[in-house]
Amino acid sequence: MEFDERRPRSEETCLCFQEDHLLLREFQQGVCLPKVEELRASFPQLAAPLLERFTWGDARYQLHECLESFSPPPGWRWSRLRQLTSSLPTELFALTATAFQLLHWRQTRRYCGRCGSPTVRASVERSLRCTTCGQDHFPHLAPAVILLITRGEKLLLVRSLRHPPQLWSLVAGFVEAGESLEQAAHREALEETGLELENLSYCYSQAWPFPSSLMVAFSANCRGGKLRPGPDEIVEAAWFLPDRLPTTPTGLSIAGRLIADYLQRSHRRTHE
Ligand SMILES: [Zn+2]
Repeated sequence: MEFDERRPRSEETCLCFQEDHLLLREFQQGVCLPKVEELRASFPQLAAPLLERFTWGDARYQLHECLESFSPPPGWRWSRLRQLTSSLPTELFALTATAFQLLHWRQTRRYCGRCGSPTVRASVERSLRCTTCGQDHFPHLAPAVILLITRGEKLLLVRSLRHPPQLWSLVAGFVEAGESLEQAAHREALEETGLELENLSYCYSQAWPFPSSLMVAFSANCRGGKLRPGPDEIVEAAWFLPDRLPTTPTGLSIAGRLIADYLQRSHRRTHE
């Protein structure tokens, strides 16, 4: 993603959000992002100021914040971003996720947290700059670790108060001030499950726009400890064999990808 400083053009594609809902154009095979000219033609009076312009691959995009609530006419729909994780292609979801993080940045940094004055978009730095004290406010990211913990063939899953009751997922949590990613991984495992880890190894990471996380995935083996769910947010923690997994996250989440990769490795081992 590159911020685009060139003159806006009407054939650019439009990401128009109202809160966490994205305005989409419907067609027979599904949905797509509208062009700016389509939006203007269909909703000439719409209060939806342009916040940012950026390029993604070869295409140019505009981010708009819709300031009014309205029911779209036939052929258009509002879609909640979180629901799009299961229906959009990976690349299109990554684009909308990026736009949503920029929107969150613009919405939460309208005023300087240091002196309370309004901010304006800086022309050179990609920041929101305070009009009084000059403080730069860059897009905020909250790093979090997510852990694929195994013991032999078995996978550790937890049920969390944050998720629907039937959904089991992986141990995860935000990195605290002063911590390394590795320290956060060991602390989260201990807090949520009572277990100690060994062979902690980085897998991959993913920007996750709810609202501005950077999810960093690790795999690890259980070294020891007594399995017990953490008192604050974990309802249940248990080991599962790969062919006996309960309902787990799917779609584009990093938890879904980690579990799919674990199942694939386990399947390969079984058939070797
Ligand atoms: Zn300030």
